[in-house]
Amino acid sequence: MFDEKSEDWKYTLDGKTCFDAQSAFAINRKQNMHGREINDKLLSYLNTCKREILMEIPLRLDDGSLLPVHAYRVQHNNARGPFKGGIRYHDKVNLQEVREMANLMTWKTALVDIPYGGAKGGVAIDPKKLSFHEVRRLTKALVSHLGNNIGPHIDIPAPDVNTNPQIMAWIFDEFSKTHSEGSPLAVVTGKPIEVGGSQGRLEATGRGVAICYREACKYKGLDPKELRVSVQGFGNVGYHAAEIIQKELGSKIIGVSNAVSAIYNEEGLDVVALKEYADSHNDSLDGYPGGESIPRDDLLMLDCEVLVPAALSKAVNADVAKNAKSLKVLLEAANAPTTPEANAILHEKGVCIIPSVLANAGGVIVSYFEWVQNLQQFYWTYERVIEELEARMVRAFGDVINLAKEKDIGLRQAAYCLSLDRVAKALILRGY
Ligand code: GLU
Repeated sequence: MFDEKSEDWKYTLDGKTCFDAQSAFAINRKQNMHGREINDKLLSYLNTCKREILMEIPLRLDDGSLLPVHAYRVQHNNARGPFKGGIRYHDKVNLQEVREMANLMTWKTALVDIPYGGAKGGVAIDPKKLSFHEVRRLTKALVSHLGNNIGPHIDIPAPDVNTNPQIMAWIFDEFSKTHSEGSPLAVVTGKPIEVGGSQGRLEATGRGVAICYREACKYKGLDPKELRVSVQGFGNVGYHAAEIIQKELGSKIIGVSNAVSAIYNEEGLDVVALKEYADSHNDSLDGYPGGESIPRDDLLMLDCEVLVPAALSKAVNADVAKNAKSLKVLLEAANAPTTPEANAILHEKGVCIIPSVLANAGGVIVSYFEWVQNLQQFYWTYERVIEELEARMVRAFGDVINLAKEKDIGLRQAAYCLSLDRVAKALILRGY
Protein backbone atom coordinates (compact mmCIF):
# COMPACT_ATOMS: atom_id res chain seq x y z
CA MET A 1 0.00 0.00 0.00
CA PHE A 2 1.29 3.43 -0.84
CA ASP A 3 2.28 5.38 2.24
CA GLU A 4 1.09 8.96 2.00
CA LYS A 5 3.40 10.02 4.82
CA SER A 6 6.56 8.81 3.17
CA GLU A 7 9.32 11.05 1.86
CA ASP A 8 7.95 10.65 -1.64
CA TRP A 9 4.93 12.72 -0.70
CA LYS A 10 6.63 15.95 -1.46
CA TYR A 11 5.59 16.99 -4.89
CA THR A 12 3.31 19.93 -5.15
CA LEU A 13 1.82 21.52 -8.19
CA ASP A 14 2.38 25.24 -8.24
CA GLY A 15 2.97 25.22 -4.54
CA LYS A 16 -0.18 23.75 -3.20
CA THR A 17 -2.57 22.24 -5.66
CA CYS A 18 -3.68 18.97 -7.10
CA PHE A 19 -2.91 16.81 -4.13
CA ASP A 20 -4.30 14.00 -6.23
CA ALA A 21 -1.39 14.06 -8.56
CA GLN A 22 1.17 14.04 -5.80
CA SER A 23 0.73 10.44 -4.82
CA ALA A 24 0.69 9.36 -8.44
CA PHE A 25 3.99 11.17 -8.93
CA ALA A 26 5.42 9.31 -5.99
CA ILE A 27 4.27 5.96 -7.32
CA ASN A 28 5.32 6.58 -10.89
CA ARG A 29 8.73 8.00 -10.18
CA LYS A 30 9.88 4.53 -9.22
CA GLN A 31 9.41 3.42 -12.81
CA ASN A 32 11.86 3.55 -15.65
CA MET A 33 10.95 4.20 -19.23
CA HIS A 34 13.32 3.85 -22.15
CA GLY A 35 16.13 4.07 -19.64
CA ARG A 36 14.77 7.44 -18.52
CA GLU A 37 13.33 7.76 -15.09
CA ILE A 38 10.26 9.75 -14.24
CA ASN A 39 12.48 11.77 -12.01
CA ASP A 40 12.30 14.92 -9.94
CA LYS A 41 13.20 17.14 -12.88
CA LEU A 42 10.43 15.76 -15.04
CA LEU A 43 7.96 16.09 -12.21
CA SER A 44 9.06 19.62 -11.55
CA TYR A 45 8.51 20.38 -15.25
CA LEU A 46 5.00 18.94 -15.01
CA ASN A 47 4.38 21.04 -11.93
CA THR A 48 4.82 24.14 -14.01
CA CYS A 49 2.43 25.58 -16.55
CA LYS A 50 3.89 26.06 -20.00
CA ARG A 51 2.29 29.42 -20.69
CA GLU A 52 0.18 31.82 -18.64
CA ILE A 53 -1.64 34.68 -20.30
CA LEU A 54 -2.84 37.49 -18.04
CA MET A 55 -5.18 40.05 -19.54
CA GLU A 56 -7.04 43.15 -18.51
CA ILE A 57 -9.98 43.54 -20.84
CA PRO A 58 -11.70 46.91 -21.05
CA LEU A 59 -15.41 46.11 -21.23
CA ARG A 60 -17.74 48.79 -22.58
CA LEU A 61 -20.92 48.56 -20.51
CA ASP A 62 -24.35 49.37 -21.91
CA ASP A 63 -24.31 52.75 -20.14
CA GLY A 64 -21.15 53.73 -22.01
CA SER A 65 -18.73 53.36 -19.10
CA LEU A 66 -15.61 51.18 -19.15
CA LEU A 67 -15.10 48.27 -16.76
CA PRO A 68 -11.63 46.65 -16.60
CA VAL A 69 -12.02 42.87 -16.33
CA HIS A 70 -9.22 40.49 -15.39
CA ALA A 71 -8.94 37.36 -17.50
CA TYR A 72 -6.54 34.43 -17.70
CA ARG A 73 -5.71 31.61 -20.06
CA VAL A 74 -3.29 29.07 -18.64
CA GLN A 75 -1.79 26.43 -20.91
CA HIS A 76 -0.39 23.68 -18.75
CA ASN A 77 0.94 21.02 -21.09
CA ASN A 78 0.70 20.03 -24.76
CA ALA A 79 2.91 16.94 -24.94
CA ARG A 80 0.05 14.79 -26.28
CA GLY A 81 -1.69 17.36 -28.49
CA PRO A 82 -3.07 20.91 -28.53
CA PHE A 83 -3.99 22.56 -25.23
CA LYS A 84 -7.64 21.92 -24.36
CA GLY A 85 -10.00 23.16 -21.68
CA GLY A 86 -12.95 25.34 -20.82
CA ILE A 87 -13.31 29.02 -20.02
CA ARG A 88 -15.18 29.99 -16.86
CA TYR A 89 -16.84 33.30 -16.08
CA HIS A 90 -16.96 33.77 -12.33
CA ASP A 91 -16.33 36.75 -10.07
CA LYS A 92 -13.94 34.75 -7.82
CA VAL A 93 -11.72 33.45 -10.64
CA ASN A 94 -7.99 33.96 -10.02
CA LEU A 95 -4.74 32.86 -11.59
CA GLN A 96 -4.07 30.11 -9.08
CA GLU A 97 -7.47 28.51 -9.62
CA VAL A 98 -7.04 28.62 -13.38
CA ARG A 99 -3.61 26.97 -13.05
CA GLU A 100 -5.05 24.18 -10.98
CA MET A 101 -7.85 23.64 -13.46
CA ALA A 102 -5.47 23.72 -16.45
CA ASN A 103 -3.40 21.13 -14.68
CA LEU A 104 -6.41 18.86 -14.17
CA MET A 105 -7.23 19.04 -17.87
CA THR A 106 -3.83 17.57 -18.78
CA TRP A 107 -4.50 14.52 -16.61
CA LYS A 108 -8.12 14.25 -17.75
CA THR A 109 -7.39 14.22 -21.48
CA ALA A 110 -4.55 11.74 -20.92
CA LEU A 111 -6.70 9.46 -18.77
CA VAL A 112 -9.44 9.13 -21.38
CA ASP A 113 -6.76 8.97 -24.05
CA ILE A 114 -7.76 11.79 -26.36
CA PRO A 115 -4.99 13.65 -28.24
CA TYR A 116 -4.88 16.84 -26.22
CA GLY A 117 -3.00 18.55 -23.45
CA GLY A 118 -4.52 20.73 -20.77
CA ALA A 119 -5.52 24.39 -20.41
CA LYS A 120 -8.14 26.53 -18.71
CA GLY A 121 -9.43 30.05 -19.00
CA GLY A 122 -11.07 32.29 -16.46
CA VAL A 123 -12.73 35.69 -16.62
CA ALA A 124 -13.20 37.35 -13.25
CA ILE A 125 -16.77 38.54 -13.57
CA ASP A 126 -20.25 37.38 -12.65
CA PRO A 127 -21.97 37.20 -16.05
CA LYS A 128 -25.40 37.22 -14.38
CA LYS A 129 -24.74 40.87 -13.55
CA LEU A 130 -24.13 41.70 -17.22
CA SER A 131 -26.61 42.12 -20.05
CA PHE A 132 -26.65 39.74 -23.03
CA HIS A 133 -24.80 42.29 -25.18
CA GLU A 134 -22.22 43.02 -22.48
CA VAL A 135 -21.40 39.29 -22.28
CA ARG A 136 -21.09 39.21 -26.08
CA ARG A 137 -18.74 42.21 -26.16
CA LEU A 138 -16.67 40.77 -23.33
CA THR A 139 -16.35 37.41 -25.07
CA LYS A 140 -15.33 38.96 -28.36
CA ALA A 141 -12.80 41.22 -26.64
CA LEU A 142 -11.37 38.16 -24.87
CA VAL A 143 -10.87 36.40 -28.22
CA SER A 144 -9.13 39.40 -29.71
CA HIS A 145 -6.85 39.64 -26.65
CA LEU A 146 -5.98 35.96 -26.99
CA GLY A 147 -4.93 36.48 -30.64
CA ASN A 148 -2.92 33.57 -31.98
CA ASN A 149 -2.67 31.87 -28.61
CA ILE A 150 -5.80 29.89 -29.46
CA GLY A 151 -6.47 27.93 -32.65
CA PRO A 152 -7.67 24.51 -33.90
CA HIS A 153 -4.17 23.06 -33.47
CA ILE A 154 -2.94 25.33 -30.70
CA ASP A 155 -5.46 25.67 -27.89
CA ILE A 156 -9.16 24.86 -28.07
CA PRO A 157 -11.47 26.43 -25.47
CA ALA A 158 -14.88 25.05 -24.43
CA PRO A 159 -17.68 25.79 -21.95
CA ASP A 160 -17.09 25.63 -18.20
CA VAL A 161 -18.69 27.31 -15.17
CA ASN A 162 -21.21 29.98 -16.37
CA THR A 163 -20.28 29.70 -20.05
CA ASN A 164 -22.50 28.08 -22.67
CA PRO A 165 -22.96 27.23 -26.38
CA GLN A 166 -23.93 30.84 -27.22
CA ILE A 167 -20.63 32.10 -25.81
CA MET A 168 -18.78 29.42 -27.81
CA ALA A 169 -20.55 30.60 -30.99
CA TRP A 170 -19.25 34.14 -30.30
CA ILE A 171 -15.73 32.81 -29.75
CA PHE A 172 -15.82 31.05 -33.13
CA ASP A 173 -17.29 34.10 -34.84
CA GLU A 174 -14.66 36.49 -33.53
CA PHE A 175 -11.79 34.09 -34.23
CA SER A 176 -13.01 33.39 -37.79
CA LYS A 177 -12.77 37.08 -38.67
CA THR A 178 -9.00 36.94 -38.47
CA HIS A 179 -8.47 33.22 -39.18
CA SER A 180 -10.45 32.24 -42.25
CA GLU A 181 -7.97 29.59 -43.45
CA GLY A 182 -8.14 25.98 -42.32
CA SER A 183 -11.04 25.01 -40.10
CA PRO A 184 -11.85 27.96 -37.82
CA LEU A 185 -14.89 26.08 -36.48
CA ALA A 186 -12.49 23.74 -34.72
CA VAL A 187 -11.06 26.59 -32.58
CA VAL A 188 -13.71 26.02 -29.92
CA THR A 189 -15.99 23.18 -28.85
CA GLY A 190 -19.36 23.10 -27.12
CA LYS A 191 -20.87 25.22 -29.91
CA PRO A 192 -24.60 25.15 -30.74
CA ILE A 193 -25.53 22.39 -33.22
CA GLU A 194 -26.47 25.09 -35.78
CA VAL A 195 -22.89 26.46 -35.68
CA GLY A 196 -20.84 23.28 -35.98
CA GLY A 197 -21.63 21.81 -32.57
CA SER A 198 -21.91 18.09 -31.98
CA GLN A 199 -24.97 16.05 -31.21
CA GLY A 200 -24.89 15.02 -27.55
CA ARG A 201 -22.34 17.65 -26.40
CA LEU A 202 -24.74 19.53 -24.11
CA GLU A 203 -25.54 16.46 -22.01
CA ALA A 204 -22.11 14.82 -22.46
CA THR A 205 -20.57 15.68 -19.08
CA GLY A 206 -23.71 14.64 -17.22
CA ARG A 207 -23.95 11.46 -19.26
CA GLY A 208 -20.33 10.64 -18.48
CA VAL A 209 -21.08 11.11 -14.77
CA ALA A 210 -24.04 8.71 -15.09
CA ILE A 211 -21.90 6.15 -16.94
CA CYS A 212 -19.32 6.28 -14.12
CA TYR A 213 -22.11 5.85 -11.59
CA ARG A 214 -23.46 2.79 -13.41
CA GLU A 215 -19.98 1.27 -13.64
CA ALA A 216 -19.24 2.08 -9.97
CA CYS A 217 -22.47 0.31 -8.96
CA LYS A 218 -21.43 -2.77 -10.93
CA TYR A 219 -17.96 -2.66 -9.37
CA LYS A 220 -19.32 -2.32 -5.84
CA GLY A 221 -22.28 -4.70 -6.33
CA LEU A 222 -24.87 -1.96 -5.72
CA ASP A 223 -28.32 -1.68 -7.27
CA PRO A 224 -28.88 1.95 -8.40
CA LYS A 225 -32.64 1.50 -7.95
CA GLU A 226 -32.11 1.21 -4.20
CA LEU A 227 -29.90 4.28 -3.86
CA ARG A 228 -30.68 7.87 -2.87
CA VAL A 229 -28.75 10.60 -4.68
CA SER A 230 -28.09 14.25 -3.70
CA VAL A 231 -26.91 16.67 -6.36
CA GLN A 232 -25.12 19.90 -5.49
CA GLY A 233 -25.24 22.21 -8.51
CA PHE A 234 -28.05 22.23 -11.06
CA GLY A 235 -26.31 23.76 -14.05
CA ASN A 236 -25.61 21.91 -17.27
CA VAL A 237 -23.62 19.12 -15.59
CA GLY A 238 -25.72 18.60 -12.45
CA TYR A 239 -29.02 18.72 -14.30
CA HIS A 240 -28.11 16.25 -17.04
CA ALA A 241 -26.39 13.87 -14.60
CA ALA A 242 -29.48 13.90 -12.34
CA GLU A 243 -31.86 13.48 -15.24
CA ILE A 244 -30.03 10.48 -16.73
CA ILE A 245 -29.42 8.88 -13.32
CA GLN A 246 -33.13 9.17 -12.53
CA LYS A 247 -34.52 8.19 -15.93
CA GLU A 248 -32.08 5.53 -17.09
CA LEU A 249 -30.73 4.09 -13.84
CA GLY A 250 -33.80 4.45 -11.63
CA SER A 251 -32.17 6.05 -8.56
CA LYS A 252 -34.09 8.52 -6.41
CA ILE A 253 -32.82 12.10 -6.56
CA ILE A 254 -33.71 13.23 -3.03
CA GLY A 255 -31.97 16.61 -2.94
CA VAL A 256 -30.87 19.27 -5.40
CA SER A 257 -29.26 22.65 -4.82
CA ASN A 258 -28.05 25.45 -7.04
CA ALA A 259 -26.48 28.88 -6.51
CA VAL A 260 -29.81 30.26 -5.29
CA SER A 261 -31.61 27.61 -3.22
CA ALA A 262 -32.02 23.92 -2.33
CA ILE A 263 -34.89 21.44 -2.34
CA TYR A 264 -35.47 18.04 -0.74
CA ASN A 265 -37.91 15.16 -1.03
CA GLU A 266 -37.14 11.77 0.52
CA GLU A 267 -39.52 10.16 -2.01
CA GLY A 268 -37.57 11.60 -4.93
CA LEU A 269 -37.78 14.79 -6.98
CA ASP A 270 -38.94 14.97 -10.59
CA VAL A 271 -35.75 16.40 -12.07
CA VAL A 272 -37.24 17.54 -15.38
CA ALA A 273 -40.17 19.32 -13.70
CA LEU A 274 -37.75 20.88 -11.20
CA LYS A 275 -35.58 22.24 -14.02
CA GLU A 276 -38.62 23.74 -15.74
CA TYR A 277 -39.59 25.32 -12.44
CA ALA A 278 -36.11 26.79 -11.91
CA ASP A 279 -36.01 28.13 -15.47
CA SER A 280 -39.28 29.96 -14.99
CA HIS A 281 -38.44 31.25 -11.47
CA ASN A 282 -35.14 33.03 -12.00
CA ASP A 283 -33.18 29.90 -11.02
CA SER A 284 -34.92 29.63 -7.65
CA LEU A 285 -36.05 26.18 -6.49
CA ASP A 286 -38.03 27.67 -3.59
CA GLY A 287 -41.74 27.02 -3.81
CA TYR A 288 -41.39 24.00 -6.09
CA PRO A 289 -44.48 21.97 -5.17
CA GLY A 290 -42.78 18.54 -5.35
CA GLY A 291 -40.42 19.07 -2.40
CA GLU A 292 -39.53 21.19 0.61
CA SER A 293 -36.96 23.99 0.67
CA ILE A 294 -33.88 23.44 2.81
CA PRO A 295 -30.89 25.72 3.53
CA ARG A 296 -28.38 25.42 0.68
CA ASP A 297 -25.58 24.30 2.97
CA ASP A 298 -27.68 21.36 4.19
CA LEU A 299 -27.66 19.71 0.77
CA LEU A 300 -24.20 18.22 1.26
CA MET A 301 -25.24 16.99 4.71
CA LEU A 302 -28.31 15.01 3.57
CA ASP A 303 -28.29 11.33 4.42
CA CYS A 304 -27.84 9.56 1.07
CA GLU A 305 -25.88 6.77 -0.60
CA VAL A 306 -24.64 8.84 -3.55
CA LEU A 307 -23.37 12.41 -3.53
CA VAL A 308 -22.80 14.35 -6.74
CA PRO A 309 -20.93 17.63 -6.19
CA ALA A 310 -21.49 19.41 -9.51
CA ALA A 311 -20.66 23.01 -8.64
CA LEU A 312 -17.34 24.58 -7.68
CA SER A 313 -14.14 23.07 -6.27
CA LYS A 314 -13.51 22.23 -2.59
CA ALA A 315 -17.23 21.89 -1.72
CA VAL A 316 -16.82 18.48 -0.08
CA ASN A 317 -14.78 19.40 2.97
CA ALA A 318 -13.88 17.62 6.21
CA ASP A 319 -17.23 18.54 7.83
CA VAL A 320 -19.17 17.02 4.96
CA ALA A 321 -16.98 13.91 5.03
CA LYS A 322 -17.27 13.45 8.80
CA ASN A 323 -21.04 13.86 8.61
CA ALA A 324 -21.48 11.19 5.89
CA LYS A 325 -23.21 8.09 7.27
CA SER A 326 -24.76 6.08 4.46
CA LEU A 327 -22.54 7.44 1.67
CA LYS A 328 -21.27 4.74 -0.70
CA VAL A 329 -20.35 6.60 -3.88
CA LEU A 330 -18.95 10.11 -4.37
CA LEU A 331 -19.24 11.17 -7.99
CA GLU A 332 -17.00 14.18 -8.59
CA ALA A 333 -18.95 15.89 -11.36
CA ALA A 334 -17.30 19.27 -10.67
CA ASN A 335 -13.56 19.72 -11.07
CA ALA A 336 -11.68 18.92 -7.84
CA PRO A 337 -14.71 19.26 -5.52
CA THR A 338 -13.13 17.31 -2.64
CA THR A 339 -10.50 18.66 -0.24
CA PRO A 340 -7.56 16.39 0.67
CA GLU A 341 -8.85 16.11 4.28
CA ALA A 342 -12.30 15.07 3.11
CA ASN A 343 -10.77 12.61 0.68
CA ALA A 344 -8.81 10.92 3.47
CA ILE A 345 -11.88 10.66 5.74
CA LEU A 346 -14.11 9.28 2.99
CA HIS A 347 -11.43 6.85 1.87
CA GLU A 348 -11.22 5.61 5.46
CA LYS A 349 -15.01 5.17 5.51
CA GLY A 350 -14.78 2.99 2.41
CA VAL A 351 -16.62 5.40 0.10
CA CYS A 352 -16.03 4.71 -3.59
CA ILE A 353 -14.67 8.04 -4.85
CA ILE A 354 -14.82 8.57 -8.60
CA PRO A 355 -12.24 11.33 -9.22
CA SER A 356 -13.26 14.29 -11.35
CA VAL A 357 -10.66 13.56 -14.04
CA LEU A 358 -12.71 10.44 -14.75
CA ALA A 359 -16.22 11.36 -13.59
CA ASN A 360 -16.59 14.54 -15.64
CA ALA A 361 -14.48 13.57 -18.64
CA GLY A 362 -17.58 13.01 -20.81
CA GLY A 363 -17.61 16.70 -21.71
CA VAL A 364 -14.11 16.88 -23.11
CA ILE A 365 -14.54 13.51 -24.82
CA VAL A 366 -17.49 14.81 -26.84
CA SER A 367 -15.56 18.06 -27.36
CA TYR A 368 -12.97 15.89 -29.05
CA PHE A 369 -15.69 14.33 -31.25
CA GLU A 370 -16.93 17.83 -32.13
CA TRP A 371 -13.41 18.92 -33.10
CA VAL A 372 -12.93 15.80 -35.26
CA GLN A 373 -16.28 16.47 -36.98
CA ASN A 374 -15.34 20.12 -37.61
CA LEU A 375 -11.97 19.16 -39.09
CA GLN A 376 -13.52 16.48 -41.31
CA GLN A 377 -16.69 18.44 -42.09
CA PHE A 378 -18.55 15.17 -41.58
CA TYR A 379 -21.16 15.09 -38.86
CA TRP A 380 -22.14 12.14 -36.69
CA THR A 381 -25.56 10.98 -35.52
CA TYR A 382 -26.53 11.31 -31.85
CA GLU A 383 -26.41 7.51 -31.56
CA ARG A 384 -22.84 7.37 -32.81
CA VAL A 385 -21.72 10.09 -30.39
CA ILE A 386 -23.28 8.28 -27.42
CA GLU A 387 -21.86 4.92 -28.49
CA GLU A 388 -18.33 6.30 -28.82
CA LEU A 389 -18.64 8.20 -25.53
CA GLU A 390 -19.79 5.02 -23.77
CA ALA A 391 -16.87 3.05 -25.18
CA ARG A 392 -14.24 5.59 -24.06
CA MET A 393 -15.71 6.14 -20.61
CA VAL A 394 -16.11 2.42 -19.91
CA ARG A 395 -12.56 1.73 -21.11
CA ALA A 396 -11.08 4.48 -18.91
CA PHE A 397 -13.15 3.33 -15.93
CA GLY A 398 -11.93 -0.25 -16.43
CA ASP A 399 -8.29 0.89 -16.75
CA VAL A 400 -8.57 2.79 -13.47
CA ILE A 401 -10.22 -0.11 -11.60
CA ASN A 402 -7.65 -2.59 -12.89
CA LEU A 403 -4.68 -0.46 -11.87
CA ALA A 404 -6.23 0.31 -8.47
CA LYS A 405 -6.63 -3.41 -7.81
CA GLU A 406 -3.18 -4.28 -9.11
CA LYS A 407 -1.37 -1.68 -6.98
CA ASP A 408 -3.83 -1.68 -4.07
CA ILE A 409 -4.38 2.07 -4.33
CA GLY A 410 -7.44 4.32 -4.51
CA LEU A 411 -9.22 5.13 -7.76
CA ARG A 412 -7.90 8.69 -7.66
CA GLN A 413 -4.30 7.60 -7.38
CA ALA A 414 -4.83 5.00 -10.09
CA ALA A 415 -6.32 7.61 -12.42
CA TYR A 416 -3.35 9.93 -11.89
CA CYS A 417 -0.83 7.11 -12.28
CA LEU A 418 -2.28 6.24 -15.67
CA SER A 419 -2.37 9.79 -16.94
CA LEU A 420 1.02 10.73 -15.60
CA ASP A 421 2.46 7.68 -17.30
CA ARG A 422 0.97 8.69 -20.66
CA VAL A 423 2.06 12.33 -20.44
CA ALA A 424 5.56 11.43 -19.26
CA LYS A 425 5.98 8.85 -22.03
CA ALA A 426 4.94 11.41 -24.66
CA LEU A 427 7.38 13.96 -23.23
CA ILE A 428 10.25 11.49 -23.15
CA LEU A 429 9.57 10.18 -26.66
CA ARG A 430 9.51 13.76 -27.94
CA GLY A 431 12.98 14.23 -26.48
CA TYR A 432 12.28 16.03 -23.25
N1 GLU B 1 -14.94 22.47 -19.01
C1 GLU B 1 -15.04 21.05 -19.23
C2 GLU B 1 -14.06 20.32 -18.35
O1 GLU B 1 -13.62 20.82 -17.34
C3 GLU B 1 -14.93 20.70 -20.70
C4 GLU B 1 -13.62 21.05 -21.31
C5 GLU B 1 -13.55 20.82 -22.81
O2 GLU B 1 -14.49 20.28 -23.38
O3 GLU B 1 -12.54 21.18 -23.39
O4 GLU B 1 -13.76 19.18 -18.58
